[in-house]
Amino acid sequence: MSLVQYTKKRNFKDTPEPSKHGSKEVSKKALTFVIQRHQASHLHYDFRLEMEGVLKSWAVPKGPSLNPNDKRLAMMVEDHPYDYGSFEGEIPKGNYGAGVVEIWDKGTYEHISIKDPVEGNKQLLKDLKNGSIKIVLKGKKLKGEFALVKMKGDKPANSWLLIKHNDQYATHDAYNSEDYTPIHSPVTKAAKKKVK
Ligand code: MN
Repeated sequence: MSLVQYTKKRNFKDTPEPSKHGSKEVSKKALTFVIQRHQASHLHYDFRLEMEGVLKSWAVPKGPSLNPNDKRLAMMVEDHPYDYGSFEGEIPKGNYGAGVVEIWDKGTYEHISIKDPVEGNKQLLKDLKNGSIKIVLKGKKLKGEFALVKMKGDKPANSWLLIKHNDQYATHDAYNSEDYTPIHSPVTKAAKKKVK
């Protein structure tokens, strides 16, 4: 529930990112998710799941995949406010995460076996603590079952893996999320500028 870290890292006089300190109530109709494509010091994807009125967040360097053989590293980062889910735009130089953000996919999601969002939210918080989350995504690009599993052993404590389950939405061809991004997207433009 804490947006303290989020707030600490940002100067809202200088960044257009949402400045809300509080969180909203759990969505009663359906929990929401968003994936933002973010050209900061490195291009990455931010995977965010609504839980307890905020967005639990993971940075996924290689982007999500619909191929169950891919285990995509997902570094858990600070909670973001619910309103961040609709944020797109430029974070000015000198600010945390400076660069360009665009929404790559969004939609609703459910706990894998609990359809009710309020009950699902409760279980998801337990699953989060236990380091194993199983969900069903209903996005435009990402659909079906996914798992987020915390890595054990010698890894940094915030290391998780994002894995597609084998279902009707899975693919067994190579999957690169960059192939599903419009060529003229603002983030792609920013990334090209950076290469020059
Ligand atoms: Mn980011």
